[in-house]
Amino acid sequence: MTTVCLFTRDLRVHDQPVLHAAAEQSDGQVVPLFVVDDAIEGFRVPNRARFLAESLADLDAGLRDAGARLVVRRGDVAAEVRKVAEEVDATAVHVAGDVSAYAGQRRGALEDALGDRELVVQDAVVTVVSPGTITPTGGDHFKIFTPYHRKWADVETREPLDPPRGLRLPKGVKAGAVPKAKDLTDGDTAPGLLPGGEKAARARLDDWLDRIDEYAQGQDLPARDGTSRLSPYLHFGCLSPTEIARRAGTGSEAAAQFVRQLAWRDFHHQTLAAVPRASRQDYRDRGDRWRRDDDEFAAWAEGRTGVPIVDAGMRQLHHEGWMHNRLRLITGSFLTKSLYLDWRLGARHFLDHLVDGDVANNQMNWQWVAGTGTDTRPNRVLNVITQARRYDPDGEYVRRWVPELAELEGKKIHEPWTSGTEVDYPDPIVDLDHVGETFRAARGA
Ligand SMILES: Cc1cc2nc3c(=O)[nH]c(=O)nc-3n(C[C@H](O)[C@H](O)[C@H](O)COP(=O)(O)OP(=O)(O)OC[C@H]3O[C@@H](n4cnc5c(N)ncnc54)[C@H](O)[C@@H]3O)c2cc1C
Repeated sequence: MTTVCLFTRDLRVHDQPVLHAAAEQSDGQVVPLFVVDDAIEGFRVPNRARFLAESLADLDAGLRDAGARLVVRRGDVAAEVRKVAEEVDATAVHVAGDVSAYAGQRRGALEDALGDRELVVQDAVVTVVSPGTITPTGGDHFKIFTPYHRKWADVETREPLDPPRGLRLPKGVKAGAVPKAKDLTDGDTAPGLLPGGEKAARARLDDWLDRIDEYAQGQDLPARDGTSRLSPYLHFGCLSPTEIARRAGTGSEAAAQFVRQLAWRDFHHQTLAAVPRASRQDYRDRGDRWRRDDDEFAAWAEGRTGVPIVDAGMRQLHHEGWMHNRLRLITGSFLTKSLYLDWRLGARHFLDHLVDGDVANNQMNWQWVAGTGTDTRPNRVLNVITQARRYDPDGEYVRRWVPELAELEGKKIHEPWTSGTEVDYPDPIVDLDHVGETFRAARGA
């Protein structure tokens, strides 16, 4: 008997329930398959393409250690899986459950293409708790995080699974070449991109668990490296969220705060699973009639709004393909609330650059920031200067990313247009004193 393990964004061998189940069913004779799916635009975004290529190379190495190797095909995912399944006469294809509208379509297309062959969809691979496992009374998903988190914390999770051993590829299967980044995209990648792959992921996780206590103090201070930066590894599944949650535990305040972020991740996944249109449409319609201003949008995207903390965040994004969460909140709020430009524009720009760019986390967080999502205070407008003073008190973060302001001292760096200092830096593109009223009037709130 032969099975196919279709990898999607679960590119690992540790705690890998899909591979585990596929191998168990066929006593080890399994085709570990990845299809470079032409329908997935994200595979062509340079930062994610490079991370993906590195992750696939590493997955291939992990599978070789287990006795097999990665088989790669390119094209329409359902058609390619069918061909491979027919070639090896597979009894079943195993795949991880996922939440986006596209993942739903893919599942349907696989079911159709496979006919009599079984499609086994594995839960709790991409998230700790699968969408639908916990629901509120009388509803299909939680709309507010706090009650979700309470139930989430009580769900029993599995013991992480060891990497498999004794896998065998069926005879005659052509493996195909593991793609390099240049096979996926011809765009430039961010100079400060993290390396992809399970090995790098596990090293980072070990290091993070040794210093997790910094999270209590450092979580919201972008000048420090006080968060895990595990997000791209979670997005591509180089790490199992279940394993991370269990290893982090809740033994300290810092660990509990960190694990709570994994619950936020699951929360947004269950929201998108229940309302797939929320990747494009307002989750809650606030009757917005967003402004359109291409120059303001370009200034935001390029980090030249004249608001140092906002520009610093956008420049970090371009340099690292990653941005600190506090800055995602500040730059997102600035775009949607201070400039009153459509959250979809910002979400698109983030997805074009973030190495962790993820439909559930990105779109649902953008909606949260814009007040069209699950935020219980949808009309709040962050005061970016107060935020900058609180979370970058010495201006260290701004100084790092906006070098033209580096000479300005301390808190003054956050408001150079009032400092009277000669610097080559633009005036703010919006009058920050009145953005709250303007936003509320525009929304009719
Ligand atoms: C406008 C906006 C867009 C965002 N887009 C993305 C995105 O595309 N992909 C993405 O993974 N995260 C996104 N986030 C959430 C968050 O900013 C990142 O997950 C986090 O900054 C990643 O850094 P870290 O791994 O060091 O996080 P840590 O603080 O170490 O947290 C650990 C993990 O928890 C999860 N997490 C943390 N915060 C959140 C959150 N608010 N929502 C959901 N999951 C969270 C992430 O998987 C993260 O890796 C976005 C947030 C905002 C406000």
